[in-house]
Amino acid sequence: MSVASTGTDQGDRTVSSREATRFEHFELDNSLLRGIRSAGFETPRPIQAAAIPAALEGRDVLGLAQTGTGKTAAFALPILDHMLETRRRGPRALVLAPTRELANQIGEEFRELSRYTRIKVVTIYGGVPLRGQVRALRGNPEVAVGCPGRILDLLQQGELRLDGVETLVLDEADHMFDMGFLPDIKRILAALPRRRQNLLFSATMPREIRGLADDLLHDPLVVELGDSVPAETIDHEIYLVSEENKRDLLEHILELETCDSAIVFTRTKYRAKRLADSVIKSGHRAVALQGNMSQAQRDRAMRGFRDRRFDVLVATDIAARGIDVSGISHVINFDVPNTPDAYTHRIGRTGRSECEGTAWTFVTRDDYDWLRATERMLGESIERRSAEGFDSEPDPAFAPQRRGRGNGSARPKSANRGGGGGGGGRGGDSRSGGGGRGGDGQQTRSRRNTRSRRRP
Ligand code: AMP
Repeated sequence: MSVASTGTDQGDRTVSSREATRFEHFELDNSLLRGIRSAGFETPRPIQAAAIPAALEGRDVLGLAQTGTGKTAAFALPILDHMLETRRRGPRALVLAPTRELANQIGEEFRELSRYTRIKVVTIYGGVPLRGQVRALRGNPEVAVGCPGRILDLLQQGELRLDGVETLVLDEADHMFDMGFLPDIKRILAALPRRRQNLLFSATMPREIRGLADDLLHDPLVVELGDSVPAETIDHEIYLVSEENKRDLLEHILELETCDSAIVFTRTKYRAKRLADSVIKSGHRAVALQGNMSQAQRDRAMRGFRDRRFDVLVATDIAARGIDVSGISHVINFDVPNTPDAYTHRIGRTGRSECEGTAWTFVTRDDYDWLRATERMLGESIERRSAEGFDSEPDPAFAPQRRGRGNGSARPKSANRGGGGGGGGRGGDSRSGGGGRGGDGQQTRSRRNTRSRRRP
């Protein structure tokens, strides 16, 4: 196994992310270079620089990277390039993704990059009638992107043949495992030709995915992005708040002028629906995204949020991964995520594409175990914020733990970047006041917040 680490020069690095600084260096088909230009990509992202040459050679690749890193083009371009060398009946590439939203996003990127070719792409997932997908499959599209459940249905009905698949992509493999798709995936694998290229992408490597990778991949190039910790562009902080005050605190945050576009995460579908209704009632352009909605409703919600017709998306973890919407200024964890790992995924919806973002998590006394586990995973404390008028009583258990990397203090990232911490209230907010609690580790205010103003 060779390792191409895009962060540090570790291991047996066979491909340097610095070697290919232009897409032209990959010697891709000209029609793809046109597609790349029309997609607005100027230079390859690190994961592309590392993975594309190996995948073009036909090697298996294990990409340890989250969505947002450019991994879709990292697998789509070599797949498309190979298809342009010889023409054959499709599907020639099968891409499995955990959610319909991600499948759509991947399908769109394939279409965009191949727009100057005759390659056809079909997206396959449940929640919509079979008819359209069956019709599209009869046109022998070269690329099939979809979720395991519907793919298996169509396979069993004889509407989808996978014996011509040359490349298999498992995207967000860890998420597919979390969603219980592993048995379906294994059944799909049994329908694929034994000789094929395998490209597996996963943000994390739980034991089960490591096992799957070992079974599936032959001498893969491992491309590892050092992003299992939040990006530097994200200011992430927690509020200690009581359950009853969460709603008011959310309202307060949504009113901040810096809050242009927010995803609010809740624990359950029901809470997402109810909270979205209440946010709409208080005058915001909000929409819910949760698993009880029909596919058409989910598509409408995503489209509206992407197009900025909605400023607030109230979602369950369905939106925690894979969704790449630029310009999300705030991620608000109204309820803490189930696992520490899900925290990194959720807050990674902001701070994308080098833009700065803010992620705030509402922590109640019941969430301390989660907080400690998350800080252990991150190897550092998360900055505490105070929101006077909304806080629970100060609690020593909420103080940052002194452990991990660095000096263990909860120094705001903005201060590291040259911003002045301390002082100042939330302009015009009588509830927050300007005073600090001083000395209890809870009163660190980021510079960003001192600039916050309410909308006129
Ligand atoms: P992904 O990780 O594939 O979801 O990609 C995240 C976003 O980055 C998508 O909106 C892509 O269109 C975009 N993207 C991918 N590669 C590049 C690139 N080389 N330059 C600029 N944007 C890119």
